Amino acid sequence: MTAVQQFTLSGVAHPKDAMHMLDEMCEHFIEHAEVQRSPDLALFKSRFGTASIRKQEEKLLIDLNCPSEIALQMTRTSIAEHMFYFAGEDPFELSWAEPVSAALLPNIHEVTVTAAENVTPHMRRVKFACADVTPFIGGDMHVRILVPPKGRQPIWPGYREDGRVAWPEGEDELLVRVYTIRAVDAERQELWIDFLQHPLPGTKTPGADFARDCRPGDRLALLGPGGGSLPAMDHILMVGDESALPAIARIAAEVPAGTRIQAIIEVEDAGEEQRLPTAGSMDIRWLHRSNYGAEARGVLAEAAKAAVESIGGQAFVWVACEKEDVRSVRAFLKSRKHDPKAMYVAWYWERNAATQS
Ligand SMILES: Cc1cc2nc3c(=O)[nH]c(=O)nc-3n(C[C@H](O)[C@H](O)[C@H](O)COP(=O)(O)OP(=O)(O)OC[C@H]3O[C@@H](n4cnc5c(N)ncnc54)[C@H](O)[C@@H]3O)c2cc1C
Repeated sequence: MTAVQQFTLSGVAHPKDAMHMLDEMCEHFIEHAEVQRSPDLALFKSRFGTASIRKQEEKLLIDLNCPSEIALQMTRTSIAEHMFYFAGEDPFELSWAEPVSAALLPNIHEVTVTAAENVTPHMRRVKFACADVTPFIGGDMHVRILVPPKGRQPIWPGYREDGRVAWPEGEDELLVRVYTIRAVDAERQELWIDFLQHPLPGTKTPGADFARDCRPGDRLALLGPGGGSLPAMDHILMVGDESALPAIARIAAEVPAGTRIQAIIEVEDAGEEQRLPTAGSMDIRWLHRSNYGAEARGVLAEAAKAAVESIGGQAFVWVACEKEDVRSVRAFLKSRKHDPKAMYVAWYWERNAATQS
């Protein structure tokens, strides 16, 4: 029998409150991995490998065990980024047993804009040529777009010594936003992303503006894919607004025949509805924001809760929209003890969020 090679790495973290950080990590990763917890130990298992984090006095001892070098690097980065995030303003140190090479991130793909067109008045589709679209077929659907400043030679990110991503700064700072790969055209080696145009008077919307202004030949990079793939159940309830419409459309397009999909999708008005072809059966209810006004709150969340009640616990519940709505639906699912493995509940944008570059 051939032994399967494993890639391992250990690290030590020094947080201000080790138990609190372990709790935060467990609460966060429950949505993305299988989490096993005993008082001083947490095990996180995903297809990228296993991370064990053990509290020893005020330290956290980390052991990673992954099926490939790339998976190991990605797991190390994910653990590092989350630990620094949860440390917030508190002093925090993290070191790894082997030095982190500053090489480029392994999952960066340079792409070139080939075309852009509006598919509805507020949804702009940009097509990108990519040398190898294989990593985007099946599996995870989301990417970070990395757009270099106009007129500058792009500098792509590498790693910091603590395992976090080293982002270019100053004049080389990149515009970074999360989007969904709406479709992969393997024959033409193209990727499509649908960008909602949500201009707000007096507010910068750099992600939406990139899609509005880009031209064939513009170069950028996609980091990923990651974070969320096809729900593996034959009955799926999908709830989302325009930011989630590309993901809903892609899931609908890729489910196997026989899958039953119920969808509740909030868009501005009938002009923003799209055809969503599927091999499964699809029952869509469109909600039009123009009927109740942009100031109304919670309409989509309440519709989601009513739908969850009507289907009982027997479906995969997929929800993506604004942060407050997501929090409200997540609390509702928790109160109903909905199986965490049968749900994906993620916020895709935040109302009145301070614009980052
Ligand atoms: C996993 C994932 C997948 C996503 N996929 C897509 C996708 O395929 N297509 C897509 O269009 N979006 C998608 N989004 C949402 C997208 O990342 C955000 O809308 C992002 O904030 C847009 O960046 P921006 O620079 O245009 O606006 P920002 O600079 O982030 O925000 C500027 C202002 O616009 C408001 N705002 C941001 N997004 C919206 C919105 N959707 N509706 C109304 N107001 C908004 C903010 O509250 C803020 O006031 C996805 C998000 C995630 C997490």
